[in-house]
Amino acid sequence: MALIITDECINCDVCEAECPNGAISMGPEIYWIDSDRCTECVGHFDEPQCRQVCPVDCIPFDPERRETHEQLMDKYRRLQAEAAAEAAAVAAAVAAAEAKGGG
Ligand code: SF4
Ligand code: SF4
Repeated sequence: MALIITDECINCDVCEAECPNGAISMGPEIYWIDSDRCTECVGHFDEPQCRQVCPVDCIPFDPERRETHEQLMDKYRRLQAEAAAEAAAVAAAVAAAEAKGGG
């Protein structure tokens, strides 16, 4: 189950930095969670980190988005693979730029 931020959010900005998946960002009015990136912190931590730090307790589980532990692990693996591919692409671009500059 992904988590959701309710309109009780006071935009304190604390949760965004705690999310290991980059799932939290500022929306038009309050912060929001991208459910495609939220793994309930599965793969990283035992407990959802955003819920631990929110001072107004406004990050409940989203009943509309039920996922099994295995589904959350699959999402975690997908995000890890995407991050690795992104890092490899950046490294390749840097290497290409260096080769060009050095040539
Ligand atoms: Fe991010 Fe974890 Fe909160 Fe989901 S539960 S939004 S992965 S900090
Ligand atoms: Fe909003 Fe809670 Fe995140 Fe602060 S920690 S920005 S109040 S959801």
